[in-house]
Amino acid sequence: MAGKTVAVLGGGVGGVVAANRLRKLLSREHRIVLVDRTVWHSFAPAYTSVMLGQKVAQQISRDLRRLSRKGIEFIAAEITGIDLSRRAIHMDGQELAYDYLIVSMGTQYSVGDISGLGTASTYYTLEGAEGLREEIANFTSGRIAIVVAGLPYKCPAAPYEGALLLDHYFRRKRLRAEVEIRLLTPEPTPLLVAGKAVSREVEEILAGREIWYSPNTRLQSVDPEAKRLNLQDGIDVPYDLLIGVPIHEVPTVVREAGLAQEGGWVKVDRETLATQFERVYAIGDITGIPLANGLPLPKAGVFAHGEAEVVARNIAAEISAGERRWAFGGDGSCFLETGYGKAAYVTGNFYAEPEPDVRMRQPSFLWRWMKEGFIRTWLWRWF
Ligand SMILES: Cc1cc2nc3c(=O)[nH]c(=O)nc-3n(C[C@H](O)[C@H](O)[C@H](O)COP(=O)(O)OP(=O)(O)OC[C@H]3O[C@@H](n4cnc5c(N)ncnc54)[C@H](O)[C@@H]3O)c2cc1C
Repeated sequence: MAGKTVAVLGGGVGGVVAANRLRKLLSREHRIVLVDRTVWHSFAPAYTSVMLGQKVAQQISRDLRRLSRKGIEFIAAEITGIDLSRRAIHMDGQELAYDYLIVSMGTQYSVGDISGLGTASTYYTLEGAEGLREEIANFTSGRIAIVVAGLPYKCPAAPYEGALLLDHYFRRKRLRAEVEIRLLTPEPTPLLVAGKAVSREVEEILAGREIWYSPNTRLQSVDPEAKRLNLQDGIDVPYDLLIGVPIHEVPTVVREAGLAQEGGWVKVDRETLATQFERVYAIGDITGIPLANGLPLPKAGVFAHGEAEVVARNIAAEISAGERRWAFGGDGSCFLETGYGKAAYVTGNFYAEPEPDVRMRQPSFLWRWMKEGFIRTWLWRWF
């Protein structure tokens, strides 16, 4: 059998797991080629720790070039085109031909039509979290507004986690009486996809911590001069520090390739992650997988990881034995840090019918400790 080339686009959570798993399962006559625009993989669940000065970028980043030691070829380049008919990837003047393709290119951020949103700080990128560290350390009084600019966004828990961690941060500094924390979001309830019970529990935690929670709120524009948020129905809200969760979109190059429709995500078979194109798979945040309750599967690393395992195993099985064997079942869990050294743990099956079967374990030191261990072992295991 001639050697095959599996191209993995994106060196984030899904891409790194897929490339590693394929390398373990396939003999060296087959090439595994991973492409990313940056050589640095950074682990987003720790961005809030960077924002609060508890971790620095080096602790949560790994060099993708290290994967070459395992026999994974890494190309640091901007992917500028995906030619599905010719089975070729275009990158800054180079071309890569593939037999199998895994697209794990995540989301691109935008400000949409919300003028002024670009002036918001954010912990949704590593650079943003690093910048916020300074702003928060120097913040002694005033109004902090965390605003979710659009749906869907990745990690449904992250805005809530940010608000709760900031609450604890300012209480520790004995400045909480001087600092107002507001969380504004278009969602009707927190973690809507996880069901009513989880939403209620998160709402109670927010209320107990005096976080001003404003669901069903759509941001129209930001006036950075006057430091005011313009919301729907002419309401406006003042702020001193604005933290934005940007609008998430499918990467332009993926849409241009015909893998996603305008404004939509990549459609896949929810068990095999196969796209409508032969031997082309999409995993992670880039996909749109509808659930029984009408909401999409959340964009979270835990799903990118699980999907990567399934796709890698099926491609390896097909190359070596000619059959597919694995199916992604929709299980997922995440930690929601609540401050005071604690975290809650949200876990369940998102493919369950008639609606996802998801529970929240109460905040405890144990879950926070487990999250810390998870971050360390994840980076150690895959690099
Ligand atoms: C603050 C925050 C906290 C989070 N916490 C959690 C958590 O606790 N648990 C959890 O499960 N999830 C969490 N997430 C979500 C998680 O990080 C994502 O869901 C996950 O990274 C998705 O993996 P992915 O492989 O689909 O995409 P990504 O990890 O985003 O990787 C995409 C990669 O593609 C590359 N790329 C894109 N376009 C191009 C191009 N044109 N050329 C070259 N390279 C390109 C990018 O550089 C990137 O490396 C969090 C996210 C944030 C922002």
